[in-house]
Formats: sequence, structure tokens, C-alpha cells
Amino acid sequence: MAQEFDVIVIGGGPSGSSATAFLSKAGKSVLLLDRAKFPREKVCGDGISGRSVGVIRELGILGSFKSVEHQDMFGVTFSSPNGTLVPIPSASGSDAPGFVCRREVFDNVLFQHAKSLATKTIEGFFATDLVFDGSKIVGVKGNQDGAEIEFRAKVVVCADGVGGMTARKLGAYNNDEAHQHAGIRCYYEGVEGMGDQIELHFVDSAVPGYFWIFPLPNKRANVGLCMVVSDMKKKKANLQMLMKGIIENHPVFKPRFQNAKRITEIKSWLLPLASRRMKLAGNGYVLLGDAASLIDPFTGEGIGNALSSGKYASMAIIRAFERNDFSGSSLSEYPRALWANIGNEIGTNHRMQRMANSKFLMNLVIGKAKRSKEVRAVISDAILNPNNHKTLIDPLFILRALLA
Ligand SMILES: Cc1cc2nc3c(=O)[nH]c(=O)nc-3n(C[C@H](O)[C@H](O)[C@H](O)COP(=O)(O)OP(=O)(O)OC[C@H]3O[C@@H](n4cnc5c(N)ncnc54)[C@H](O)[C@@H]3O)c2cc1C
Repeated sequence: MAQEFDVIVIGGGPSGSSATAFLSKAGKSVLLLDRAKFPREKVCGDGISGRSVGVIRELGILGSFKSVEHQDMFGVTFSSPNGTLVPIPSASGSDAPGFVCRREVFDNVLFQHAKSLATKTIEGFFATDLVFDGSKIVGVKGNQDGAEIEFRAKVVVCADGVGGMTARKLGAYNNDEAHQHAGIRCYYEGVEGMGDQIELHFVDSAVPGYFWIFPLPNKRANVGLCMVVSDMKKKKANLQMLMKGIIENHPVFKPRFQNAKRITEIKSWLLPLASRRMKLAGNGYVLLGDAASLIDPFTGEGIGNALSSGKYASMAIIRAFERNDFSGSSLSEYPRALWANIGNEIGTNHRMQRMANSKFLMNLVIGKAKRSKEVRAVISDAILNPNNHKTLIDPLFILRALLA
């Protein structure tokens, strides 16, 4: 007979590890499954934002990151299509609001924490299918060391990322190219001019996408480029060629990469964006993180929303146990709470993503930020306080930037 748990979590990335930790702390028996053995790599920009830091703090493990390789970040440097560079420091204070940490390292800290709390963890377990009882999900099937195994639970948490099988099986996979980013990234050593800020560059040749340089310790950097897939196809853009052109020919970046060396191959991956809302809960299941298409449509940041989805899904699952009701309507408390928390920010950032289509507006706002302390303060506030993003697309803010 299949072994039974309160909850099965498929995927031990940020979303699944967050859910495992919150649920285990609430006394639920949790089985955590991942096809990988940790530490494992994940294609990412490695930028850990303020939202991520908030959930990590709630999990009580912020201190664990102090002892692993990471680089504290104190703001963002933007540049516009016409080459204007503007550093936007975070408000002064001793604690870094965010940091950059290779995902191999970052995810391992989260995963080991979740594993230490879970009832049982299996690494190297490849989930192949969900187990249905009528329209209800009651478990998962998969392979481990060549053997097929089945587990059962009251709730299955689907946190297997954009490449996982659960969203596809549940008809919740976001395959809308207007709501997906394609991204490439690699690591460089010796990029000149890096400081204690992440860098987002709206380079003329690459807008509406952006080029990033995220500094790491030992003069290393995560370097990449992303763009909405439908825009990329419309432009017939080749991301690798665009990035090569920026690094080798752009007047601002060529000198900075002159003595730099690429130390890894360039890898690409998809980013499913939260500008298209998917169904996140049903009978006996919830979807989290990338499996739920929760990435910020402007910044490409998904770790914070993945961690938050683990938190809000856990709260709904705990209440479902109190009611002994694991139906879709009971578990829908999760998407309601999640969208109440991140919905405004996603809506605003989707409009900002479309604004980035206009080189004129990007030049205007970034150029104005260069000259005006007030505009820099608004942007800095919006970066630190996601609920204030709205100001950036406020027509009055843009008009003031135009007239000032
Ligand atoms: C190029 C690029 C740059 C990015 N940059 C940033 C950034 O700088 N900052 C940021 O916040 N976000 C960034 N993101 C987004 C971020 O990487 C994701 O949003 C985040 O990893 C989502 O976490 P997750 O836990 O939902 O999924 P994942 O991190 O993908 O974890 C899913 C887990 O499920 C496991 N799994 C998959 N299938 C199975 C299966 N069948 N059986 C068992 N286990 C399975 C995998 O092994 C994996 O461990 C970027 C993404 C890309 C592609």
C-alpha cells in the first residue's frame, strides 16, 4: 500500500522548500520530493530581492545566508536606451535590502532547512504523474533508482518549476508567449566598474528586454539578458547575439568587459510571468512558484513570489486541515490571499513592462532620475516598497518628469 502523508511537496526549489518549512512547523507530516540531489544548479540571475529577504526572515533563516558566499546589494543602477546611467541607492541603513547569491548555494540553504523539518525527503525522485481519484488529486507517482513508487496525501503541493509536469497535467501551464520571458545567463570574472548595486540596463539594441550585471564576490558577476518571448519573435531577436553585441561593441560596456573572461557557458531558460493568471488551486492540490507562473513581468524576479506562494499556500492548507475540507473551493483561500498581497504590484509592473517598449519614455524617466533627487527618491522607494511601484506609472509622475 502507498505510504500516506498530510502533504506531498513536489519540488524543493524556493517555493517547495518554503511550503515544506511552513507546513512542517505547523505540525503537518510532509513528504518533500525532488528529482535533483542538492546542491543543484538553477539558471537564474541570482538576485535576491527585498520580498525574498522578507520571507526568509519569517522562516528564521536569514542569518544562515551570512555564512555562505553572497554579495550584499544596496540599490539598483539603471541605464536608458540613450546610455544615461543612474544609480539609485537604497535608503541608508546597515542591513542590505537584498543580495546576490548563486542559486546552487541559495537553494541549498533553503532546501536543507526544509529537509531538516520535513517528515521525509527523497532526492533523486522523478515525479512522473499525479494520482487522481475522480477529479481529486490524492497522490503522486514517480521513479527512484529505477523503481516506480506511489505516495498518497490529503494535499499535493505542485512546486516543480516551469519545466515540471504538474502544471501541464492540471491544464495550468502558461504557454502564452506574451506572458513568458526568455532569459540567458552566464558568469564572468573581471568585469570592471561593479559596485554594491545590481545593474539593469535598457540597452537600445535590446529593448523591450534588458541586460543585467549582478555582482558576486571575487570580482565575479552573473550576466544575462531577457525579453518577452512574443517581442523577441516580433523583433526576430537572438538573445545570445544581442548580448555578444552589447559586451563587444557598446560604448559603455565594451570597456567594462575588455579584460573580463566568461567562465561558464551561456544557458537559457523560460520565465512564466504572473501577468497571465493561472488557476492555482483545485481539489486536493495547489500550484506554487514557476509552476504557477508567478514571475514579476517587469523585473523577471520570481524567487520572492515563489517563497510567498509557499507561505500563503501553507496558511490555506493549514485551514483546510482545520475544516477537514481539501476541495478546490477550500484551497482557493490560497490564491485569494496571494493575489491580495502581490496582485497590485504585478499589475503595475506589467504596465511598466509595456512602458519599456517605448525608448522615448525610458529615456525620459531614467534621464530625469539622473537629474532629479525627487525622482530618484520615488524610484528608490518603489524598489524597496513594492506597494509604491504604482507611482512610477502614474501619468502625473511622468508628466512632472516631462515638465521639470
Ligand atoms: C534567466 C533567468 C533569470 C532569473 N533571474 C532571477 C533573479 O535574478 N531573481 C529572481 O528572484 N528570480 C529570477 N528568476 C526566476 C527564478 O529563477 C524562479 O522564479 C524561481 O526559481 C522559482 O522557484 P520555484 O521553486 O518555483 O521553481 P524552481 O526553482 O525551478 O524549483 C523547481 C524544483 O522542482 C524540481 N522538479 C522539477 N520537475 C520535477 C519532477 N518531475 N519531479 C521531482 N522534482 C522535480 C526541480 O529539480 C527543482 O528543484 C530568473 C529566471 C531565469 C530563467
